[in-house]
Amino acid sequence: MSEFDLIRQLQKIISFEPRPGALSSVVGIGDDAAVLELPPGRQLIVTTDTLVEGVHFPPHTAPGDLGHKSLAVSLSDLASMGAEPAWFFLALTLPGIDSAWTDAFAQGMAELAENTGIELAGGDTTSGPLSITVTALGLVETGQALKRSGAREGDIIVVSGSLGGAAFALKKIAAREVPDAACAEKLYRPDPRLGLGSRLHGLATSCIDLSDGLLADLSHVLHASGKGAEIHLECLPSPECMVNLNEKERLELQTSGGDDYELCFTIPRHREPELAVIESETGIRLTVIGEINATLKLRCFTGGGEVFDASSKGYEHFSGAGR
Ligand code: ADP
Ligand code: MG
Repeated sequence: MSEFDLIRQLQKIISFEPRPGALSSVVGIGDDAAVLELPPGRQLIVTTDTLVEGVHFPPHTAPGDLGHKSLAVSLSDLASMGAEPAWFFLALTLPGIDSAWTDAFAQGMAELAENTGIELAGGDTTSGPLSITVTALGLVETGQALKRSGAREGDIIVVSGSLGGAAFALKKIAAREVPDAACAEKLYRPDPRLGLGSRLHGLATSCIDLSDGLLADLSHVLHASGKGAEIHLECLPSPECMVNLNEKERLELQTSGGDDYELCFTIPRHREPELAVIESETGIRLTVIGEINATLKLRCFTGGGEVFDASSKGYEHFSGAGR
C-alpha cells in the first residue's frame, strides 16, 4: 500500500454523513490545503496535541484505542474552551504501512469523530517512529470562549466525573497487573466533556481540562487568574474501582495522576444550585471540591484539617531532563 492508498483508506473510514445543518469544509482532503468557512459571529478555537509511543502510550497499545484517544485529547481541549467541534487534521508518523493496524486505528477515531460531529479535513503522513498529532478546530460565539484566566475570589471549584482512574489503570499496567475495566476505559477511551463545556457559557468564570493532574492543572488556572485556592481532598470524586484503596495512594492518584480529561471550572458561589440542573441534563457528575481565594497559594485540606503534601504535581515534560 502506498502513502496515497493509506490517505484514501483513512479518508474513507473516517467519514460520515454530516448532520443536517452541520458545517462542512469547502475543500477538504485532496488539495494542498483545506478551505474552511466560518459562520458569521463565530470565532475559531484551535488546539493541537501529539501522542508519542513510549511517552504518552505504551508500545503495542491497541490501535483502536489510540485512534480514539488521539482525537479525544484534542476534543477535550475544545470542551474546556466551550467550543463546538468542527474540523480536525491528522498528522501521522508511522514506522511502516500495516493496513490492519491503520484500519483499526481509523475505526477507533471514526467512531468518536462521528459521535462528536468533527470532520477530518486534512493531515500529513510520514514515516518514522510512531507518533500521532491531531489539530482540532472548533467554534464559539464571538467573545464566549471559556478561559483559564477568569476565576474570582469566592468562586467555587467544580470537577466533572471522577479523578484518578486513568492513572490507577496505568499504575496497574506498569506493575504488570490487570486494571479494572472501568479504570482501563478511562485511560484508553477518555470521553471528552463537550456537552458540559458548551453548557458552561455565561456560568463558568474559568475552565481547564485535566490532562496533567488536578493540582498541576488547577495551578495554571490560579496563575492565569492571579488567585489562590483551598481544596477539600475528602470531596474529590473517586471512580468505583478506587474506593478500596488506602487514602494516601488514592489522593496521590487523584491530585497528581494525569489523563483524567475531566473539566475543572469555577463558578460564582450563589450559582451552585445550577450544577444539579446541568448534572441531570448532561448525565455527568459534578462535584464541588474547593474555593478560590486571594492568597496566590494552592492549599489542600483533608477531613482532619491538615494540609496534604502531594508528593508530585503531575507530569511535566523535561522536568527531570539534564541541563
Ligand atoms: P502535500 O505533499 O502537498 O503536502 P500530501 O500528499 O501530504 O500533500 O497530502 C495530500 C492530501 O492528503 C492533503 O489534502 C492532506 O491534507 C491529506 N492528508 C495527508 N495525510 C493525511 C492524513 N494522515 N489524514 C488526513 N488527510 C491527510
Ligand atoms: Mg505533505
